[in-house]
Amino acid sequence: MKKILAITLALITAALFVSCSGAQIQSEPTESAPAPTETAAMTNAITDPFVPSSEPTATPSAEPTNVPTTEPATEASTQPAHVHTFTDVIRKKPGMLEDGVMHRVCSECGEEFDEPIPATRSIKILAFGNSFSDDGFRNLPYVLKDLGFKEVILGNLYIGSCSLDMHWDNIKSGANAYLFRETHIDGLRVDYPNKNVKYAMEKYDWDFIIVQQKGNWCGDSSKFSVLGNVLSYIDQNKSNPAAKIFWHMTWSYRNGVNPSQYGGQLAFYNAIANVTKNTVMTKKLISGLIPSGTAIQNARTSMIGDNFNHPDDGFHLGPKYGYYTAALTWACAILKVSPGDVTWKPVGMTDDEAAAIKEAVENAIKKPYAVTKSTYN
Ligand SMILES: [Zn+2]
Repeated sequence: MKKILAITLALITAALFVSCSGAQIQSEPTESAPAPTETAAMTNAITDPFVPSSEPTATPSAEPTNVPTTEPATEASTQPAHVHTFTDVIRKKPGMLEDGVMHRVCSECGEEFDEPIPATRSIKILAFGNSFSDDGFRNLPYVLKDLGFKEVILGNLYIGSCSLDMHWDNIKSGANAYLFRETHIDGLRVDYPNKNVKYAMEKYDWDFIIVQQKGNWCGDSSKFSVLGNVLSYIDQNKSNPAAKIFWHMTWSYRNGVNPSQYGGQLAFYNAIANVTKNTVMTKKLISGLIPSGTAIQNARTSMIGDNFNHPDDGFHLGPKYGYYTAALTWACAILKVSPGDVTWKPVGMTDDEAAAIKEAVENAIKKPYAVTKSTYN
């Protein structure tokens, strides 16, 4: 695929050059024209319908619309009668991972064909986060690279245990209260201390902006009074008008460390699912859900068991299974791809474990507010 893309690009460049030269030749006096053999070689290249001959663009070709045809009719079989004058129409815009389609029609001869517009293969995600969005970002660059991305920028507005209320206070005050952490495609992380919300919002044209709540408040609907304010701020201040806002649903903790007010792991999960469904996802400004909490709870029913949290504290995700589960959930929820599209898995994870996690993620995307039992036991 890479090779085909490279060849296509090379041909586009070559044909562009030829196309421009050809147009000049036609409009200049005959005595300054190059030797016939050279012209023939160039125009043959131009008439090949499988050779893309210009950059993809929405605007019609800038070349003259009436190019005089000076070639004798008898030579039509070997000498093309004209230089193609293409009108380009975008049939399908390129996506992040899917090529678009450019339809090209020559106004001289009516010759027409489609050619691909390369996918952008670039993604920029900003989180109004805390350490739980950091958990989500740990394996995400590798998953995105595996899916074909060439440019990945993950930005986290980080304050440990940051709640929606704290984000809203910082939005209003402009306080330089954050560690702004950028993670790039190769997993390189760069920390920028003492930054504010405006800095992060303006730094890149984010494609997705992720909002979440402090982990132990996610099952308490009374803690969401400023959610609408935060969403409105993001919607009105996003530098990329097409940026989509997603909600990151976080998880219940390892058995034994869940907040006491919820009464155990499953009860905490059910509270999170209920608030996510009925308090959060009813907001119109939210385009989609990243159901990490459900993916984790689904995966706990597999042979991996209750081993998705960090061994040090039991509530952050752990590097062995938790990061991977979250990264797959983020990628699949945001990009509408299937976990099966991802071949990368962390070193040391078995194929069965990866398959169990992918099943858990797939089921979480399908049924985000309820546990689906694993078939990997
Ligand atoms: Zn033509």
